[in-house]
Amino acid sequence: MVARPAEDAPVDAGPTGGPVDAALEQVIERIRAGDTAGIVASYIPELAGADPEHFGVSAISALGHVYRAGDADVEFTIQSISKPFVYALALEEIGIEAVRARVGVEPSGEPFNAISFDAAGRPVNPMINLGAITTTSLIPADSADERFGRIRSALSAFAGRALQLDEAAYLSEASTGDRNVALAGLAKANGALIGEVEDAVDPYFRQCSLKVTAADLAAMGATLASGGINPLTGEQVISAETARRTLSVMASCGMYDLSGQWILDVGMPAKSGVGGGIVAVTPGSFGIGVFSPPLDDAGNSARGTAVLKELVAEFGLHLFDRPVTPVSPIETIREHDGNVVVYLRGELDFLAAERIAFEIAESVSWETESLVLDLGSVTRVEPVAARLLRVLGARARAHGRDLTIVDERRLLGD
Ligand code: GLU
Repeated sequence: MVARPAEDAPVDAGPTGGPVDAALEQVIERIRAGDTAGIVASYIPELAGADPEHFGVSAISALGHVYRAGDADVEFTIQSISKPFVYALALEEIGIEAVRARVGVEPSGEPFNAISFDAAGRPVNPMINLGAITTTSLIPADSADERFGRIRSALSAFAGRALQLDEAAYLSEASTGDRNVALAGLAKANGALIGEVEDAVDPYFRQCSLKVTAADLAAMGATLASGGINPLTGEQVISAETARRTLSVMASCGMYDLSGQWILDVGMPAKSGVGGGIVAVTPGSFGIGVFSPPLDDAGNSARGTAVLKELVAEFGLHLFDRPVTPVSPIETIREHDGNVVVYLRGELDFLAAERIAFEIAESVSWETESLVLDLGSVTRVEPVAARLLRVLGARARAHGRDLTIVDERRLLGD
């Protein structure tokens, strides 16, 4: 494969040359100067010919700011990183129960190309080849071409640009893919794979051969980070529920045999591929894409892993290390015509609703004042917060106090 810059890479929407780009650049330089080992995948010539010195990283925030350093716009084949996104598509198309009936969600603890069925005859998870090929077979279509077409459009929507097929890589994958054909045959025999083996394996080889850049992977990850909305295009690619489910499976099964160690050390749901790419996600904040072809013993990009470990430490991205004192949901409190108006802002979750209740209890004297909660600057209300705010209103009224909630966009629901 001749790697070259993508022509229609996502537009940089953030400040370039700013502190985040500089931090990414420094991490790349530090790791390049170190002695991270690794071997480029060699089972097909298109991967064996990759330049081991290519090294790029890109991060895209949930607000759509794009940061990149090194070879962030060099194309390579997505390989196994296609798996979580096709899983997301299957969840959208046929629903969680129908997918779960045919593909499990447990880590396998076995190599990615092992014959790993559970007691019910399902592939144990969608991140190993057996489960991924079965998942591809679940995408409704009348032919292999149509199935691949749907997969390509979905992955393009995640990336925010039209992804192209690396024909040579696809032909090589197809001509060396006997084990994948055999796995598909077993999945069919077990009743997990739908339709003909060929109609699952061929689109699977093609989905693995789609060309992406580190910046594309960052956009794909950022879409999962943002409840299914691509922050570059604004398109709702999948539902927030599907994004959450996909991230959950990536967290437990995404990094081959090292998934447990990965979530401990790096703490981001992630998926790697033998092309040298890794997509990693901090839910609600960032999608990160990394590209460096030499792989470690587990098949994960060696430099990619090193970059992510450093970024997690530097940017505080570990999933289980979230801030306990987020920005206050109360923007300001003002008096208006004898009312005390509390202006709320941002996303209201459990912690935000709890804070609102406590701050109101502390600062409002109910004898003399009536209270208005204004949701004008609120972007989203989680069900738990809606419930707590409704209870707050009902209890105030039950005690003869006057509490009005201004919610013109009906964020609290009915
Ligand atoms: N096309 C490769 C396979 O199915 C993908 C391997 C990978 O990225 O893990 O064997």
